[in-house]
Amino acid sequence: MRLDIPLDLPGHSFIDQLQWLETWACLPKGALSNSADTLAAVANEGAVKMVPVLLDCMNCQAWSWPAYDAHIEADGFTYSDDPLTDMAEQIYQKYRANKMAIHRKSQMEPLKHLRPYWELCGRCASSTGDEDATLILDADDPFWTTHRVPWRCEQIDCRCYVNSLSEYERNNP
Ligand SMILES: [Zn+2]
Repeated sequence: MRLDIPLDLPGHSFIDQLQWLETWACLPKGALSNSADTLAAVANEGAVKMVPVLLDCMNCQAWSWPAYDAHIEADGFTYSDDPLTDMAEQIYQKYRANKMAIHRKSQMEPLKHLRPYWELCGRCASSTGDEDATLILDADDPFWTTHRVPWRCEQIDCRCYVNSLSEYERNNP
């Protein structure tokens, strides 16, 4: 049996996550959250199941998403040659990535006394967009609530993630 991450996460209900995605992808308010039940039924079933439902939510019509246009202009990664399918897939991937990161954070938080450092890896750890960047800070550092981090990553196709480190691991990389 597959171990699914719950749809509602501490401090981030499924509806909250859908509303965040609506804002992020410049969709009209309610475009996703009004179909929460339909989306919930496929949310743990992978892109093959969820992307068609996302396309239904947009009535299969193109919309204006400036950050996506910039991503394409910068020759960013695409999942599909069809722009509309690709936009839906980018939304699915962001939903999944942020959900995993929120879940991971909820697991790291109770272990701060044992693993007091968090290491941010990927593009969000860098001011220049370096995919191999890393940044190690105290788990209690305000950075984790004020900066771009995996549980609130707004970059299209960003693979950033966070590890927790013990004192020993931090000193012996
Ligand atoms: Zn990121």
